[in-house]
Amino acid sequence: MIKFLDLEKINNRFRDEIDSRIKTILDKGWYLQGEENEIFTKNFAQYCGTKHCIGVANGLDALNLIIKAMGFTAGDEIIVPANTYIASILAITQNGCTPVLVEPDINTYNINPDLIEEKITSRTKAIMVVHLYGQAVQMEKIWDLAKKYNLKVIEDSAQAHGAGINVEGEIKRVGNLSDASGFSFYPGKNLGCMGDGGAVTTNDDELAQKIKAIANYGSDRKYHHIYKGVNSRLDEIQAAVLDVKLKYLDKDNQRRREISKYYRENIKNKKIILPETYNEHSHVWHVFVVRTKERDKFQQYLSDNGIQTIIHYPTPPHKQECYKEWNNLSFPITEEIHKTIISLPISPVMTDEEVKKIVEVVNKY
Ligand SMILES: *Cc1c(COP(=O)(O)O)cnc(C)c1O
Repeated sequence: MIKFLDLEKINNRFRDEIDSRIKTILDKGWYLQGEENEIFTKNFAQYCGTKHCIGVANGLDALNLIIKAMGFTAGDEIIVPANTYIASILAITQNGCTPVLVEPDINTYNINPDLIEEKITSRTKAIMVVHLYGQAVQMEKIWDLAKKYNLKVIEDSAQAHGAGINVEGEIKRVGNLSDASGFSFYPGKNLGCMGDGGAVTTNDDELAQKIKAIANYGSDRKYHHIYKGVNSRLDEIQAAVLDVKLKYLDKDNQRRREISKYYRENIKNKKIILPETYNEHSHVWHVFVVRTKERDKFQQYLSDNGIQTIIHYPTPPHKQECYKEWNNLSFPITEEIHKTIISLPISPVMTDEEVKKIVEVVNKY
């Protein structure tokens, strides 16, 4: 069986380095808000090109804290793609704000910037873009709208560590394309730890201080609480693991690009629609999503031929039971996507033989 994602193999490559960093932590006996957190967040900010990075407990918290720190609350509307993973939307509703769903482009799966303006009202406060499946959103039109209507821009970068867009001839990475960005380091992400982890990146000094304080019980200094805060921290062990793996992220993303290129050049089957990418640097292929009419039949066929796949995701947020109030809304493109998508295995540790076998099996379908 070709696994969808072999996490053991992925992390085993760094076993010695991870072992030695964890040993250091054990020797020191310091587990939270220490040196490892400082080192990793500094390095990750530098990687993204931002002034600040704040380590938090997970990706959902990162988004949640950004919205909280921006001061958005009940009645405020935040624009978000309808086909995102539910976490983006939960972060909005957990703050009492209203998500305003916008359809994606069916070929890139990212928010369709041409459908945003008609959704802007006097209550709109922010546009949350999601670099879905690993592909950076092309931001120009979104920046223009934000400027025109005085809106904040928030990135959900949980699936796209290292992806970038061309800004005046320079590649700018996700995390550095908005007022503030949330990252997840869930084990399966392109940069993943060995448990839960997340981060916020921003160039805004004031916002960074505020998020740091809110994430630490709302305190700006010891036992002095200026916000009704929460507890959301990136622990020392996760920070150390991430700092080890960050050095290899570009290389790993390059291998994902290679595999994706091979898939896109060699999968030739009229029943399978391949994903589109803007250009080479825009995509880090967190997942390789194809579409096909009889998706469940195709998934069974792949499984019968020793290939494990996953659906990202089978049900869109507005059709979930927890959002009953939206169940009757209609987002035809989003619904079509969720009905027909399936993710083929892609990861930096897949062998050429595995990739070839997958292409052969898909072409024979
Ligand atoms: C994984 C993910 C999140 C949430 O990250 P967690 O660390 O699991 O909380 C948010 N948004 C998107 C798009 C994700 O893929």
